[in-house]
This record gives sequence, C-alpha cells and structure tokens, in this order.
Amino acid sequence: MIMRTVSFDGSFAGWRCIARQLLEQDVAPSEISWQTEHLVGDLFAGTSEQPETVSSAIRVPKQLAELLSLAACYRHAQRWALLYRVLWRVVRGDQAAMLAGDEDGSELHRWAKAVRRETHHLHAFLRFKHRGEHSGNPQYVAWHEPAHDVLALAAPHFCNRMGNTSWLIATPEAVALWDGKTLAFKAPCPVELQALAKQQRDDGESLWLAYYASTFNPARANPKVMTGHMPKRFWKDLPEGPLIPALLSEARTGTQRTAQAKTVSEQAGKTVPVSAEEVLPVREQLSTLDTCRRCPLWQKATQAVPGEGPLNARLFLVGEQPGDHEDLLGRPFMGPAGQVLDQAIQDAGLQREALYLTNAVKHFKWTPQGRRRKHVTPTTEIAPCRHWLEQELDNVKPDVIVALGATALESLTGKKQGSLAMYMGQATQWKGRRLIVTYHPSYILRVPEEAKREQAQAALTAALVQARQLLEQ
Ligand code: SF4
Repeated sequence: MIMRTVSFDGSFAGWRCIARQLLEQDVAPSEISWQTEHLVGDLFAGTSEQPETVSSAIRVPKQLAELLSLAACYRHAQRWALLYRVLWRVVRGDQAAMLAGDEDGSELHRWAKAVRRETHHLHAFLRFKHRGEHSGNPQYVAWHEPAHDVLALAAPHFCNRMGNTSWLIATPEAVALWDGKTLAFKAPCPVELQALAKQQRDDGESLWLAYYASTFNPARANPKVMTGHMPKRFWKDLPEGPLIPALLSEARTGTQRTAQAKTVSEQAGKTVPVSAEEVLPVREQLSTLDTCRRCPLWQKATQAVPGEGPLNARLFLVGEQPGDHEDLLGRPFMGPAGQVLDQAIQDAGLQREALYLTNAVKHFKWTPQGRRRKHVTPTTEIAPCRHWLEQELDNVKPDVIVALGATALESLTGKKQGSLAMYMGQATQWKGRRLIVTYHPSYILRVPEEAKREQAQAALTAALVQARQLLEQ
C-alpha cells in the first residue's frame, strides 16, 4: 500500500476541502498521512461555517458535521486522521461510526465534549482588563491559555456581550480582535499583543480583589469541588488567582484546628505535661521573606509584603505593617493610608519612586470583624520581624530614615519608646544616620476632628520636608 502525505494549513476549513477530494477519489483512511503547516494569518475563517455537504454526491448528517467541527478543535496528534476515518466510514454507510458506542465514535464524542467544556472555561475564566480612557483601541484586553483551539468558537460570545466596545483576546496560539463591528482572528498572536494582554493592569483590580477576599466563605470552601469547577491552570491568569491558595489554606487550617481542638478536648484521660520548647521540632531557619515563619502572622496573611523602592534610595520610610489592601496586592502603602502618604510626599516636593518604603512588620495582623479584616497593632511580632528590616537597611544604606509611628520607631531602636511627641520635629542621630519621627498616615485617617487631622497631616508633610532638606544639605 502506498501512503499519501496530505499537507494542509491546519484549519478545519482546509481539512474539509482536502477530505472532500479524498472521498471523491475513494482514498481509504489507512492510506493517508496527515501533515499540517503552521497557521499564518486569518486561517480561522470558515471554521464556524457548518459543512453539511462534502460534495454534491456525498451527504453528511448535520449531527456529524457539528461533531467534526467541534472535534477538530481538540489538540491531538491524530485529530485529522480520526476525523477522516469517521467521515469515510459514515459516507460509506457505516452510521455506527458516529455513535458513542463505537470505538471511533466514542473518541469523537469525547473530544467534542472536551472542546465544549474548554469553550465554557474560556467564557467563565476570561478577565478583560480596561486599558484606560485614552489608550485607544482595543479598550479591553484579555489573556487566556486554552487547552484546545477554542478561540474561534468562544470569541463570538463576547461580541454580543460587549456590544460596540472594542477588545482583544490573546492566547499563545492566536488572537481574536473585535473593533465593535467585525471579529477577526490572527495566528500566530503577535508578541506585542501577547505582552499587552499579559501585562495590562486594571484600575478596578484592587477593588475586585478586596471584594473577592471579603466574600470568600471559608466555611463553604471545598477545594476539590472548587478545582473541579475552576482548574488550577487558570488561576495564574485570574487577578484573584494568587489569593485562592491562601484563602483555601486559611479555610482548611481554620476548620482543622477547630475540629482537632474539639476532638482533643473531648478525650478522657490524664494530662501529659510537656514544655512547649521541648516539643518544638528542630528545623532550619527559613531564609526568604515569603517563607518566613519567625512569628505566627504568616498563617493568616495572604502574602509577605516586602519594601519597595530603589536600592540606592537616600530616604527610607518605615511604616507599621501592611493593611488589607497591601496584603492583597503585595505592595506597601497602597490603600487609604498610602494615599495620605502620597499626598504628603507630593506636598513635600518628593517623588515616591525615589524613596524606599517599607514596614516594620511584613505580614498583615488582623482579626475578623463581621466580613471585614480588622487591623490589629503588632506587638510581639516586631522583634522577630526586625531581621527583615535590618536586611533592607543593609541593602539600601539610606542617609535619612523617617519612622512613621510608634511601631516603626520601636522596631528601629529595638525598644519601646515613650510618647511620639518626645521625638517629633527633631532629626536625631541613629547608627550614623539621621532619624526623623512622625505620625503614621493611618493615624491621621483616624483623627476625628478635622482641624486636628489637618495638623497631623501638616506634621507628616513637615517631617518629609525636613528629610528632604537634610538630604539637600
Ligand atoms: Fe516573618 Fe515578619 Fe511575617 Fe512574622 S511578620 S512571619 S517575622 S515576615
């Protein structure tokens, strides 16, 4: 038997055209070796068109035509061979080939089902990001990594949903572009469009993350069901994805701890006295901030929040600890207190990008209050976390340090200081550097009287002006 190598562009339309010719020439499936070329340009055109007739002489049932067009999106080395084998059998009268009870038919149905599911995943887990009012077209961009070639099947859904708003959906293989009127596809997806879709940040993202975390119900979290509905491979492209492991872990350990405590407390028997230190396992000290277990704060926080800023910054600002927003975003001074600080930085004639901003404690300490996470002032955590602050000071080597609040001052000096008022307005010498002490921006937010709040804000700005003048000297 002579094998024919059949080359085509890799699209369903291309395969259908070749299959028609092969059927007319009565070429058996076993005689064909299918070879696809790399998709270039708008090769998805025609995939949505239903091939009800292969030729005027050859009729194909509508159900099979639909199955074939779906299964053609399933990524498999034998996809075109299977499609042709089923088609060849059916047009020769073997209708069983398209039934789920047949070996080929069952494979075809399984592939079609997987493609439908992957299409649903694209609809459900795609997140458009807004590019801002003046960024031009497309207004929204999204990145997705489907397991099968479902972009052309799934994209029309968004044309209806988004109306005349322009968007693009980039995948590693292709891109779908909607200008408000026409839907176009390109393959491969240009690298710059991939980068745009992957890197775009959305203004509303922090709000969405805060909402997602606050509505996550630990009592109802079932990781198995959750990963069944939302496979882990999609987490990395979802804005809320990085939060999910910590939220699940919190839900799990919380439930386990409660259950264990209940079971143990109900057990009868003698108490065995042990000292807490004796039963502590000996482990190597973890070395990175992400894996820090020096105090228990890591257990309830989403992530450690490191300092941010240039390593050659001359001015170093130390706050207390990350708040709710910072914990979700992984960056210091991003919430309302961050806005107060940004205003003071601007009023003092400084630029945030030139400063190094960090906190005395790197994980968020909180307690539940209704559906909110209420900030709790760190105490015993300050000493173990000083390790990381000292490391940052060694790396940055600033000339001037501004301690924002009592926790920052305690962390820097290694002991609890009296009232902040004793230090305000002075630039003291500390370990060869100038140290300025002022209010923490979140304290300013909590001052109830407007006049006093303005005074506190002015004191914060004055401290930053003083720091700037010291640097200028
Ligand atoms: Fe480590 Fe500081 Fe986090 Fe405690 S708060 S776990 S010491 S990084």
